Amino acid sequence: MLKQLLLLILFTGLLAFIIPYGTQRLREDRAEPASSLQSAPREAALSVEESPAEDLLIKVSFQGEDLVKTVSLEAFLPGVVAAEMPLSYETAALEAQAVAARSYIVSRWNSGLHQNGADLCTDSSHCLAWREADPQSDAAAFAAVEATRGQVLTYGETVAQTVFHALSGKRTESAAELWGEEIPYLCSLPSAGDSEQEGFETTEVFSLEEYWQAVSSLSPDQSAAPLVVLRRTSGGSVLSCTVGGAETTGVVLRSLLGLRSARFWLSYEGDTLCFTVQGYGHGVGMSQAGAQSMALGGFGYSDILLTYYPGCRLCRMVF
Ligand SMILES: [Zn+2]
Repeated sequence: MLKQLLLLILFTGLLAFIIPYGTQRLREDRAEPASSLQSAPREAALSVEESPAEDLLIKVSFQGEDLVKTVSLEAFLPGVVAAEMPLSYETAALEAQAVAARSYIVSRWNSGLHQNGADLCTDSSHCLAWREADPQSDAAAFAAVEATRGQVLTYGETVAQTVFHALSGKRTESAAELWGEEIPYLCSLPSAGDSEQEGFETTEVFSLEEYWQAVSSLSPDQSAAPLVVLRRTSGGSVLSCTVGGAETTGVVLRSLLGLRSARFWLSYEGDTLCFTVQGYGHGVGMSQAGAQSMALGGFGYSDILLTYYPGCRLCRMVF
């Protein structure tokens, strides 16, 4: 009860007001310069915060369709939750997923990342996965979105780029190491419980011939070693390596071989190459399996989010 009360205080102390749409920036009510909000009594600010008009129109490029459609963020989100996370997961994990997805979408709002003018696409390798969600059979996704309506994570005055992945390799990866982007809340962190999840470790086996065929685009010298790992990230993923003498990255090799992550180790059995792979996905941000593990341990969605995105704040957008 005390914990719930503290969380409530934390949350209500961090109410945010969007200013204006075009800037994608949030600010806390208490940081407001001399204005009507600052001088307004607390009750007045709360009445604004409780306005039901918490939504945003987003332009989405749906895979397989030529047109960019303008849709309601809150109406779009259940389809993202349903596509991105097993709906059998605990309520708190689904709620964390809803907030992470909402924040990620808002962080891409009006970002110019798509040539067709869309804010977002439904290509999961570029933005987010999405599928048509049914209010009855996918009720858990709708409930997670509704329970967290309008809530986003912020860092400083901007909405956080809350990337996520299926399953980390015991530690999450840092965006700085993996992508060369210094984003303080996307740092490498321990992710408890991931190693106990089904599918944490997988093995992929290639004959030498299959291997050279798969990596042929790297123009490797087949008389050189098939793989030499040069550097790993602090999360354990292969950062750089040589393949038949050709230098490349773990991310590229993962893609060429169809491995579940870049956190891999190679062993040989005669002429056979055995890749032992841990985790699933790029490893940056929230581990969805880790979120489920925390939820099963009794943690709420805000605990999960603030663990995987340290230094961020949970805020509510108000329009
Ligand atoms: Zn995209």
